Order: sequence, then C-alpha cells, then structure tokens
Amino acid sequence: MGKPSAERKAVQRAREAQQGIGKLEIHLSVREREILRRNCALRRPGREPYGADEYVELLILQDGERLERELKALHNRRCGKCGDKLPVTECCHDGDSQCWVTLGWHETKLKTNVS
Ligand SMILES: [Zn+2]
Repeated sequence: MGKPSAERKAVQRAREAQQGIGKLEIHLSVREREILRRNCALRRPGREPYGADEYVELLILQDGERLERELKALHNRRCGKCGDKLPVTECCHDGDSQCWVTLGWHETKLKTNVS
C-alpha cells in the first residue's frame, strides 16, 4: 500500500530541501504558458513530455553552457576604444560608437524573434 499523499509530499519536500532546491515563482502570459506546454511535448515525441520544472531546468543549464562559450569568445577580443578585454561593463567612452560598452551588450543579451 502506498504512503498517504501528505506523507509523500513531506518526504518530497525534505528531499528537495536537502538538495538545496528552492521555489521560484514566475509570471507567464497565457501565450507563454501555451508555448511551454506545447514544447514540453514537442521536444519528446512519442515519450512522456518534459515537466515544466525539468524543461526550465534544462533551458537554464543549456543557456549557462552557451553563455560560457560566448564569454570565452569575448575574452579574446578588446574594446575598440579603450583596449580593455571584453566584456567591458564600464568605460568613460560609453556612448562612443567605437566603445564596446555602447552596443556590446547586444552580443550577450538573449535574442528572440518573438515580440
Ligand atoms: Zn571602451
């Protein structure tokens, strides 16, 4: 016989606390929730869809890897104005078109065609 649901939840919460798992509340539009639900299934055709937690976890890890690669590539370049290693976050030439700070963040921001 299975454990009562309250007991199972308590066990689950204890396990998550032990693993340092925390809850994060995010606000999504109807459209975004629909995309999430649809893509959780589309990414696992013929298999049980990703759970929302799992899907978001994997996106975070995937973007972490991508950002690391992008930052490594940036470290090999320098600001055209001050010569500092990229990414430069502060520069007295901010606003100057030759200074990386002015437009450089477009290289690291998350890009999407969705508006
Ligand atoms: Zn600069």
